[in-house]
Amino acid sequence: MTDVILTINAGSSSLKFALHPVSDPLTPVLRGKATGLKRQPEFSVSVPAPCPWPIPVLDASSTHEDVARLLLDWLATHATNYNVVAVGHRVVHGGQAFTSPARITPQVVADLTDLTSLAPLHQPHNLAPVKLIAAQFPALPQVAVFDTSFHTTQDPLAKIFALPHALSEQGLVRYGFHGLSYEFIASTLPEHLGAKAGGRVIVAHLGNGASLCAIKDGKSVATTMGFTALDGLVMGRRSGRIDPGVILHLVQQRGMSVPDIEKLLYQQSGLLGVSGISNAMQDLEASDDPRAKTAIDLFCYRAAAEIAALIPALGGLDALIFTAGIGENSARTRAGICDRLGWLGITLDPAANEGAQLRINAVDARCDVLVVPTNEDAVIARHTIALALSADGQ
Ligand code: ADP
Repeated sequence: MTDVILTINAGSSSLKFALHPVSDPLTPVLRGKATGLKRQPEFSVSVPAPCPWPIPVLDASSTHEDVARLLLDWLATHATNYNVVAVGHRVVHGGQAFTSPARITPQVVADLTDLTSLAPLHQPHNLAPVKLIAAQFPALPQVAVFDTSFHTTQDPLAKIFALPHALSEQGLVRYGFHGLSYEFIASTLPEHLGAKAGGRVIVAHLGNGASLCAIKDGKSVATTMGFTALDGLVMGRRSGRIDPGVILHLVQQRGMSVPDIEKLLYQQSGLLGVSGISNAMQDLEASDDPRAKTAIDLFCYRAAAEIAALIPALGGLDALIFTAGIGENSARTRAGICDRLGWLGITLDPAANEGAQLRINAVDARCDVLVVPTNEDAVIARHTIALALSADGQ
């Protein structure tokens, strides 16, 4: 029997899972996901490939809790060579209180449930598996690892809005997200950048959700997502930064309801809204439709503009790192962004960029440009081992 950590990463319409050996958390022995929840649910396994166990079929109405229950049954039936010693969960919001990962207790669950209003589309899905496992396996240690924690090092100036002070005091501030991804990339910087690892770095996490993080000395100093995960870059389905006056106009002049506006901004905008074709960059790159080109061009233009807007927080730039689905795989997007940033000393080596090599900057470029695959699960597993197993004295 191998001791493993089960990591669970529940998104708005997906639930990703993995089993990480305690002795080697970077190399999961099982990795899979249930996607398209509430639309076209599908369960798939990427490690091992092919999966020797029968793949469960999900019901069209499967909730996050249903999937978690089915996953636990499936693991109990088939993963008999593995002993799950702790479970680590990605939790989107830790509010102002959770500045580092937390061992889950009934009080922690209550405190995290209280934060639901800050992330209504994510927090309940994150907590559903936590509550299910606590009920089914009360002795199994669980750990919550937060997307917001990495940004708690930011200066107050990077966090507050120009709103009345009382609202900031009440928690209406910029929290930032994608912290697990940024923490992982930050941990790889010494290996990739040597002496420059303590320098001025921007990480571009470009997936379905997309954001940037300005990192100095390995710590977050500014980020593009704010109070919610709607702010900043153009995303697959989310608008990113828009003039808040647009929302007032939609309410006052067009009589749109709050749920309709929420749907517009979270589900119907971004690459999907602009192109009218797809939320996936891969689909847009394969399309000849001029609206697909406009969506890609806007994504790149806005990303370059937001990179420029982070420079005052850093005082310059030593390295730009691309990661996540688009950042790791789309040479066209990386070039579209970097071509607008020559003034920052960014020049790509086109062949290295097409080949998605680790280093894609031209040899004489002032700024390093790298492609580094992210690994959010590994961060969850590492923290879970540190917190759950050491607390048990194992
Ligand atoms: P999530 O935020 O759901 O974890 P991912 O990090 O998996 O998202 O990124 C998904 C995005 O990456 C989609 O837009 C997808 O089309 C894009 N992508 C994945 N592979 C490629 C590829 N080879 N070329 C272009 N885009 C890609």
